[in-house]
Formats: sequence, structure tokens, C-alpha cells
Amino acid sequence: MPELPEVETVVQTLKPRLIKETITAMKILFPKMVKTDSSVFQTKPIGQTIQDIHRKGKFIIFELDTDVLIFHLRMEGKFFIKKDEPFDKHEHLVLYLSSGRTLRYHDFRKFGTAHLLPIETYQEVSPLNQVGPEPKDTNLHQYYVRIKDSKRPIKAILLDQTKMSGLGNIYVDETLFQARIHPERKAVDLKEKEVVNIVLAAREVLAKAVALGGTTIRSYTSSLGVHGRFQNELKVHTKAGEPCPVCGTPIIKIKVTGRGTYVCPKCQK
Ligand SMILES: [Zn+2]
Repeated sequence: MPELPEVETVVQTLKPRLIKETITAMKILFPKMVKTDSSVFQTKPIGQTIQDIHRKGKFIIFELDTDVLIFHLRMEGKFFIKKDEPFDKHEHLVLYLSSGRTLRYHDFRKFGTAHLLPIETYQEVSPLNQVGPEPKDTNLHQYYVRIKDSKRPIKAILLDQTKMSGLGNIYVDETLFQARIHPERKAVDLKEKEVVNIVLAAREVLAKAVALGGTTIRSYTSSLGVHGRFQNELKVHTKAGEPCPVCGTPIIKIKVTGRGTYVCPKCQK
């Protein structure tokens, strides 16, 4: 599943290739992925130019002249830029561009979503108004205050994108290992200093992963065949049975809120 660093890689890959392209036509092959009015979605972008591409959390935002197209890749979504090749059955949405190329949204699992919203107001409405700040923009004390009474495990809270965005399963495990915090500890039992250390660790882990283009594990690669290199830096995630890089104790795999979770039982009490 693409997480923040992988989504950032997708944005950085698409941006130089698509800025200033005008959308000349649109084909929706899997209508259920479109979450706003489908006739507006299909017609309003036509004639508009892609002015910028950026992201908030894991949402990718194509800024057009008067509207934005917002995609979420969920489990397996990716983009391809193609010219005349025939359509693949996993391509669910196609933008025809003024250069003659097409931008194709491809998704084996069909969990991805697309929204079209006015550029003036999109930040104030769903889905983007549900996205909390990223670790680098999170106020440390305010975050502690927001979570300190929760009886949920810290891993569940870190995965909650409304409180802080950008950490998925891989980077939560790496963050909690770096902060030496067990993922099942309840937020209510954490001291402020421990919460601060978690957010600082999250900033470091994500910054490093972004710099390396994200993590390429299992089936996910970003669009256009770009592979991340952060998988070489993983300390605990996917490392069950291997020695902890700090203390040598074998890493174990447990389940926390239904998610496979990797911990060093000695470093993370
Ligand atoms: Zn250890």
C-alpha cells in the first residue's frame, strides 16, 4: 500500500511530465471510483489545464484552472502515462491530454477514489478537511493534548489520519521502534515526553523515506516503474525472526488493531 513517501514520489514523478497539459477528453471506465457528481466530473475538466500537482496526506491533487481533481490510491492505485497503447482492463479512468498522451489511473483492487471539487473551496470540504497535519507540521504539545485521554493503543492513534496524517503500517512500526515505544501501549499511559519523541521519530523516518523515494515491498511500485529504496533502511517492519539492529533480540510479529505489527520485545517494552 502506498504511504506518504510513496505518494510523494508519485507526485514528483508526474509533475514535470504533466504540468501545462490541457485535458481534452475524459473516459471513466469504472464509475464507482468517482465520488462526486459523475456528469460534472466527466465534463468540467475538459479544456482546463493542469497548473500544479501536489498532495495532502495521501491524497494527490491535480490543480486545474477552476477545479481540482483529487485521487486517493488506497491499496494498489497507480498512474501511467501512455500514448496509443490499447487499454488495460485495470485502467479505470483516462485523461486525454493536449500533447496526444493519456494519463491512466490503474488499480487492480478498485479501492482508489477520485473527486472533482472547486479550487476555491476544496480544502474546507470532505475528503481533505478530514486530513490532519503531517508530523512535520504537527504542533507537539497540541498533539499530546489531543490524544492524552485516549485508551486506544498508540499504533491505532498514529494510523488515524484525522489526528495526524501520513503514517501507515510500515512507517508506524519504524517510528515506534525508533521512539522505543511498544505499539500496544495506550495513549493515556504515555508521558508527554514520549509522545513528543514519537512525533519527532515520525518526522525523521518520513523525511528519510521521502528522500529515498519510499519503500518498494510486495506488489506496490509507483507509477512509471519508479522504485523506492527505503526498504533497505527498514529496521523492524517485515523483519520477524531477524535480530534487532540495536540489541540483537529477534524481532517478533504481533497483531495490533488487526494489523500485522513488528516489534523488538526488548527495546519496545
Ligand atoms: Zn532491540
